[in-house]
Formats: sequence, structure tokens, C-alpha cells
Amino acid sequence: MTISGSTATELLARLESGESSSVEVTRTFLNAIDRQDETIGAFLFVNSDAALEQARAVDEKRAAGKSVGSLGGLPVAVKDVLCMRDTPTTCGSKILDGFRPPYDSTVVERLRAADAVIIGKTNMDEFAMGSSTENSAYKVTRNPWNTDHTPGGSSGGSAACVAAGMAPLSIGTDTGGSIRQPAAFCGVVGMKPTYGRVSRYGLIAYASSLDQAGPLANDVTGAAALLQAIAGHDARDSTSVNRPVPDYLCGLDQPLEGLKIGIAKEHFVAGLDPEVESTIREALGVYKSLGAEVIDVTLPHSKYAVATYYLIAASEASSNLARYDGVHYGHRAESFTNMVDMYCTTRSEGFGEEVKRRIMLGVFALSEGYSDQYYVKALQVRRLIRQDFDRAFADVDVILAPVAPTPAFKIGELVNDPLAMYLTDIYTISGNLAGIPCLSIPAGFSDAKLPIGMQLYGPAFSEDRLLRAARMFERVAGLSTLSSRLS
Ligand code: GLN
Repeated sequence: MTISGSTATELLARLESGESSSVEVTRTFLNAIDRQDETIGAFLFVNSDAALEQARAVDEKRAAGKSVGSLGGLPVAVKDVLCMRDTPTTCGSKILDGFRPPYDSTVVERLRAADAVIIGKTNMDEFAMGSSTENSAYKVTRNPWNTDHTPGGSSGGSAACVAAGMAPLSIGTDTGGSIRQPAAFCGVVGMKPTYGRVSRYGLIAYASSLDQAGPLANDVTGAAALLQAIAGHDARDSTSVNRPVPDYLCGLDQPLEGLKIGIAKEHFVAGLDPEVESTIREALGVYKSLGAEVIDVTLPHSKYAVATYYLIAASEASSNLARYDGVHYGHRAESFTNMVDMYCTTRSEGFGEEVKRRIMLGVFALSEGYSDQYYVKALQVRRLIRQDFDRAFADVDVILAPVAPTPAFKIGELVNDPLAMYLTDIYTISGNLAGIPCLSIPAGFSDAKLPIGMQLYGPAFSEDRLLRAARMFERVAGLSTLSSRLS
């Protein structure tokens, strides 16, 4: 197997045995970026020199017999929503053009501590608002399986670079599905951890009560290893939870005995593509053959999830994005008449259409006299959605569901119809509203040869169980990744 077609685990073994150096591995991925990224458009910034320098430092550490971190010399790509010291961090927006943060986000800090080599910053929908990466102010990312199609979003760059063998691992963020849906569209594994499991310090806020960073990888073990490196309490994020992080790798290969899988009828409704439905049903068959028990559960408030999410996310976004005033960060209008005009012109020039739409929706939902009917009401429904899950998890260990209603849609297909785009988030946003962990794993292909993912939901802090359940499937029915086919 070539370097860029290998899994993170295989690469780590090569690095540890001395078969390859981190410089060699990093160079291979940098070359893959050179060759392919003009077509795919996964990266906004390639960190070539600094990455090679970091790789060299890890090689030296290893050669000197010093202890090396758990990601010892493996390249990792990071979504451009995470601050990285002295490195361009745009969040896919013109308003942050030229911004180089003076500090590292906790996720980046932990990656460095684990001796990961940060290879670049990946493209995304502006401020993570979108489901196709077409809302980036810089470029469109293409799906490596078929470049007429989107890679999903908003972490489309992070999913596409792993799928195409331009990085073995990447970090995405998920506010309403932005790790899981691109993972499904690109045929890779992606996990949104429990809210509070991974620190949001230095993660540029979209909707603070929903945002969570997580791993993307070409297999479950890679995702587990990356989550291990970034999870854990951080005093700098008040919503980060102080609870021990289990060893996600230990026992990963042991199938779960007597696994109870929930199936919710609300997840199999009109609009679900028959190919997606049959893939999920076949996956269920695989689990049954492994001894799992399938139990019907109900999530009656799911039908309100899209409306609830878009009220909460837009409201929080309108507040979070108030800070881009042309004074503190990035872009400032060149000509203006007074201070208020400077704010208005800067924001009119700096934000894209979708971001402006969300700010307007959010400001309205929070406005005096309306906030009880909109924002507060949405918070109440959010609680009901969480209670549905709590009830379901009294009877089952995990819930198996689709990730998205269809395989990857075409570039340009939905971008001019925001409501249709919002509706594609129907199967992912409940996980964010409930704050629970959820994971997407490749489960099949459509007739048009596009990947189809399946989703596993679990109770809060059950990441270890979700990973084991996913690995159980992968061991017997796992699909080969695009990068391994290309090599
Ligand atoms: N598609 C959803 C949105 O546009 C989710 C995005 C995300 O998870 N960042 O808000």
C-alpha cells in the first residue's frame, strides 16, 4: 500500500518501525496536495514549510529515543474555523481575510502536543453556514468521487482531503451535521462528539450552544485515535466538561455483545432516497448477523428539528457575528463617511449572502416582542427533542439512522434554494440539539457510484461505544476508501 492510500494506523506503524520518516510521509501528502488540489479545492492554506519543520522535529525526537506523542509525525488537516497561531485563519469569509491569530485553539494545541504535523487549513462554508462548501468566499470544493458533486459541508474541505488521500486525518466542526454529512458524501468516517467533550477555545463561534469539533479519518480506528488526542477538559472553555476521557482504542476491535440497536420510524420518511434507505436496511442486516437486537424506538419531536435548529443557530450566529466590525479583525472598508458607515460598509462587503441571511433571521428571532415566540420557543422544543432521545436510550444502546436524505448532490443544485438546502440537514441536526455524540461511517454506494453513509447516535459521552459499534460493522462490511483505490 502506498503512503497516501494507507490508514492512519498503518502510517503510524510505519513511522514507529522506522520504515518511513515523518518528513517522507508529510512530503508524500504535500505532493498529493500539489497534484490534486487544483481540481478538488480542499485547502485554503497549505502549511508546507512549517509542516516539514514539525515533521523533522518529530523524526529527531524519535531518533534520539525520546517519547513521541500519540500521533507521532502523522499529518492532520484542520478546518479553517480553528485558530492557529500566526497562520491565516479565515473561517471561509472575506471578513477575516488576512487574519492571523496570535494564539492556538485548544484543538490545535493538543494536536501539536500529540506530535501531529499540521499540514494545512481546509475550505469550508463561510462561518460554517452551509451543507455543500459552496458558501466559501474563496472557492468551491469538489467531491473527489465525482467532481460535479459537492463534498457536503460545511467541513467539505476536511472530508474531501481525507477521501482523496491528501491527508490521512482531519479535524472538522459540526453545528448541525458539518462533520457527518461531508464524511458521508465523501466516503470517510466522521464523528461529532458530545457537546463539551472537545474544547471550543479558539474555535470561531457560529452557534455556541451547538458547535463541536471532531475527527474525520479513512477508518474508525483513525477517528478514535484523533478523538483521543483532542478530547478532554479545558478550563478556557466554560462548556467543556470535566470528565475523564476513556481509552478509545482499547477494546475497539472487540464486538459489543448483545448490542441493542434502535430504529426510529421518523427517520424513514418521504424524501429519503430509496438507495439510502436500502443501504441502511442492509447495514441493519449486517448488525443482526453479528447478534445485535433491533428495537423500534420513537423520536416524535424530530419533525420540529429543522425549524428549531435554524432558529437557534441563526439567533446565536447573529450575536456571535456582531464582533466583526472592521476594528478588531480582518477586513475594513476603504471608504466610509463616519463610524457607523464604517461598520455597515465593512459588514456589507465582508459577509456573503448566506451569512447575511442568517444574521437577519437571527436578529429578528431575538428581537423584542418576538423572542418568546421564536428563540425561547425553540429552546423549549430543543428540550423535548433531547427527552425523546433520553427515552429511546432507556431501551437501546445506539440508534441507527441515515446521515443525509440523498447521496452527494451536484454543485449548483441547491445553493440558490436555501430552504431546500436547510431541509437536507434533517437527519443530523437532532444530534446537535440534544448535545449527544453521533458518527457517520461509509455503508454503501449509489448506482451512480457515490458513497452513502450511515449514522449511529448514542447517549451523552458514549463515544467509546459508538466507535466500537462502528468498528464492528467496518470489520465485516467495511468499504475501501477512495484513497486506497487510487493508490
Ligand atoms: N448545514 C447546517 C447549517 O448550515 C450545519 C452546518 C454546521 O454543522 N456547521 O447551519
